[in-house]
Amino acid sequence: MNTSEKLERFKILEVPFNGIGYRAALDILLEFLRTDKNHLVVTPNPEAVMLAQRNSEFLEILNAADLVLPDAIGIILAAKWLNLPINERVPGCDITQDLLKLAKNSSCYLLGAAPTIAEKAAHNLRQQGVNVTGFRDGYYTPEEEPSIIAEIQALKPDILILGMGMPRQENWAFRHCQNLPCKITLCVGGTIDIVAGNVKRAPKIMRKAGLEWLYRLATNPSRAKRMLDLPRFVGAVILRGKR
Ligand code: UDP
Repeated sequence: MNTSEKLERFKILEVPFNGIGYRAALDILLEFLRTDKNHLVVTPNPEAVMLAQRNSEFLEILNAADLVLPDAIGIILAAKWLNLPINERVPGCDITQDLLKLAKNSSCYLLGAAPTIAEKAAHNLRQQGVNVTGFRDGYYTPEEEPSIIAEIQALKPDILILGMGMPRQENWAFRHCQNLPCKITLCVGGTIDIVAGNVKRAPKIMRKAGLEWLYRLATNPSRAKRMLDLPRFVGAVILRGKR
């Protein structure tokens, strides 16, 4: 039995979360790096949980992942309401950067974000001593995909960071994960933008108050439509969560 199979999961609207804290999640990722299997790691927020209600393939992928980390405060509040032991946020963007800091002997490949952004993120990580073996933006054509797969297969990065938005990154990971010689495939949304310095995190005080979602909405109003899923999430958890 591998590490992730030993971990208990708790379902919120059919999405199974690993209720481990931040430090434990980081330790498990470091353990994955000592194995030969490619582990799929996803970081759903309430919007992802609601997408999974409408998209059964996406729900299946979340259920098949090796580690399902609660990215957002909404998941923690829902768990509280449902009396589930998911107590600490594990933001994908934080854990990715901490993992890269701790696993200096490991290599990584970035796939996602706009072309100049992916390049800037790779540059910034290399400046910090991270071994970035390659990068590619997330706006390639379908015809280009085989060459990207071939490049990743040739470079054999230990950690593959996918930042192509959901559900594209999860679909991609699920389709290719088993054929890629990586140890961790991390689906982490806008992390490449943050590493590049293109998108700023919310100030610490807002993050502590659980208001990062509000900061993201204020700084990027185009997210308003998808954020309509937040009240829908609250309603669904209250009405259906305890069934
Ligand atoms: N993106 C991409 N290819 C696409 C669509 C989006 O690489 O076809 C990138 C986009 O540039 C951004 C990230 O995916 O860097 C999406 O970030 P977001 O925070 O919206 O992630 P989500 O919350 O959807 O996982």
